[in-house]
Amino acid sequence: MKTYAIAAIPGDGIGTEVVAAGIEALTALAKRQGSFELRFDHFDWGGEYYKKHGRMMPENGRDLIRKHDAILFGSAGHPDIPDHITLWGLRLAICQPFDQYANVRPTRVLPGITSPLRNVAGPELDWVIVRENSEGEYSGVGGRVHQGSPLEVATDVAMFTRAGVERIMRFAFRLAQSRPRKFLTVVTKSNAQRHAMVMWDEIATQIAAEFKDVTWDKMLVDAMTMRMVMRPETIDTVVATNLHADVLSDLAAALAGSLGIAPTANLNPERTFPSMFEPIHGSAFDIMGKGVANPIGTFWSAVMMLDHLGEKDGAGRLMKAIERVTADKRFHTPDLGGKARTADVTAALIDAIHGANT
Ligand code: NAD
Ligand code: MN
Repeated sequence: MKTYAIAAIPGDGIGTEVVAAGIEALTALAKRQGSFELRFDHFDWGGEYYKKHGRMMPENGRDLIRKHDAILFGSAGHPDIPDHITLWGLRLAICQPFDQYANVRPTRVLPGITSPLRNVAGPELDWVIVRENSEGEYSGVGGRVHQGSPLEVATDVAMFTRAGVERIMRFAFRLAQSRPRKFLTVVTKSNAQRHAMVMWDEIATQIAAEFKDVTWDKMLVDAMTMRMVMRPETIDTVVATNLHADVLSDLAAALAGSLGIAPTANLNPERTFPSMFEPIHGSAFDIMGKGVANPIGTFWSAVMMLDHLGEKDGAGRLMKAIERVTADKRFHTPDLGGKARTADVTAALIDAIHGANT
């Protein structure tokens, strides 16, 4: 029987709670499917590790997970440690060297969930946002000099390469092509950012020629926020830079009902390195340790992981089980206005996995 090795990195805060729930769900699913096994290797990297060792993960950390089939990640972010240290020391320390350049964020209003947008109940909002995940505004290029003096200078250089933009654009067109509407919106800010964003527009036109069956349009990022709220049904697949898509996808998650539901995949499409799957939310200091974190974002990320591994049946069964659970308001956590706890949602999901006739 095929066995997949999964590196579990729960990280900090509610990351530990939702990844534990995700592992329970995946284990039940694999048992139900009976056609593959999952082996989880646990890595206790994150803020607590940092307090003991002065770094978020061991120096050879990446070597320890390089051969795994996939990574299931929770969240990096600790109340006692500055965010740029936790983020760059763990999440980005994996994403960037593993060249997980395509960050894919599906958004839908699941059954039973209420969107804050009136007139949106389901099919009106069905998007996938593709975020460039390796360069751009988060390339890490920049610096600070004369710290604390009035002459202090700080720069973050948004760095775009033709190769980087071409590959994300091609990925986004291919993804749009695989969806029923075959429609892509290319988001930039090419009026104000007159160098790199103009190159994005040019590369979009160039790559579009390879995908004649995909319709596409262009949108400035500020106007895109308005379109997402006012005319959500006019959007299908979206591609944007690291920063722009980071912001748009939190908005998308909120419009779909809660940040606690939204999943993401950090893909290395060439499969030279393992890809990483995680809920898009962070450590949620305000609710950590209380047992009320919504695990749905992690379950949905697990669906994306199974898809990536080629386990389409298992992915389909898990997604159906998720939808059965969200449809039942008894299993809504407080972020959705309910009273359920993480453990209640997980137990309901496992019941649905066993019951679902797919
Ligand atoms: P956050 O996502 O942790 O929380 C934002 C709000 O959403 C909070 O009110 C929280 O309670 C709520 N929320 C988030 N996920 C939820 C869930 N599953 N169930 C119920 N409610 C949920 O964002 P933040 O407060 O900006 O960041 C907190 C920490 O997490 C920071 O250190 C930040 O850097 C880190 N962070 C990490 C990642 C990551 O590792 N991918 C992503 C975002 C934030
Ligand atoms: Mn973000």
